[in-house]
Amino acid sequence: MGAVTKILLASICVAFLAAKWTSPRFDADSLKGARVLVTGASTGIGEQMAYHYARFGAKIVITARREKVLQQVVEKCLSLGAQKAFYIAADMANEADPDKVVDYALEKLGGLDYLVLNHIGPSPFSMWKGDVDHTKWLMKVNFFSYIQMAWKALPSLEQNKGSLVVVSSLLGKITSPFVAPYSSTKFALNGFFGSLRHELAMKKSNVSISVCTLGLIDTDSAMEKVRGVTDVPAYPATDAALNIIITGSTRQPELFYPWFTYFIVITKDWFPSLTDYMIQNSYNYIP
Ligand code: NDP
Repeated sequence: MGAVTKILLASICVAFLAAKWTSPRFDADSLKGARVLVTGASTGIGEQMAYHYARFGAKIVITARREKVLQQVVEKCLSLGAQKAFYIAADMANEADPDKVVDYALEKLGGLDYLVLNHIGPSPFSMWKGDVDHTKWLMKVNFFSYIQMAWKALPSLEQNKGSLVVVSSLLGKITSPFVAPYSSTKFALNGFFGSLRHELAMKKSNVSISVCTLGLIDTDSAMEKVRGVTDVPAYPATDAALNIIITGSTRQPELFYPWFTYFIVITKDWFPSLTDYMIQNSYNYIP
């Protein structure tokens, strides 16, 4: 191994350990009785977040489109220890639904300490074939509903020194084939909430914003898309969910999960051609 490689590896290890040691401690008790709204919680990472919040004794409102599934998740939350758990069915493509959901949570919980924005609309994993209407629709679900809900919840979060948690993706930081509409919505989220974080800090607001950058996670919907297409390892949804909750609770601005996604983002700027080569060759694609 050359001297430069050794120095690079040592620097990465030091940076990683320094980040670990200086990160704030998570106090699970702080979530007891916390009032939380989680979107996209009928399945996947959102469902796992609902169960973790329930185990911590939080008061929860969950939302997604499928009422029956939400009902089952609420029942499980109550059995796991949630102080309160409610659901509201909503379609985030409908203009009125984001406000309706926040109003419902404020009414049921009497305020909000955490707004966890996590839902995504289904989107094909394929080459871009010019479906502009789908991209517009996806922007509504994955982006516009997020900013609408954040704005609606902000006064209550401000009253309660609350936290806004945005579930984003590595695909909101680097580009990749087969996901142009999805990736656009995640880049938009990173831009919007990065800007809003500056504004809140400049206004001396007490609301924290955590943007979570996730790599591949083993939810059914994600695994269905990538099966046979890539060998990139998938990480457990329950662990991703817990890391998102800890990041929100400790008011950290960013999460990179799994940890190496941080280095992928840095490498993209240092070695753009190498990153492009690696991304394009991580898929089994024959033209
Ligand atoms: P899932 O596809 O498993 O879950 C999506 C959730 O959104 C479901 O609860 C779904 O419920 C809900 N939903 C879908 N459409 C709508 C709609 N129109 N209105 C309201 N709710 C809707 O997603 P994951 O758990 O895999 O992902 C969760 C988050 O993590 C997302 O923000 C995603 O971008 C991010 N992420 C995931 C990765 C992964 O590999 N899984 C990687 C990187 C980031 P219903 O059908 O009942 O409406």
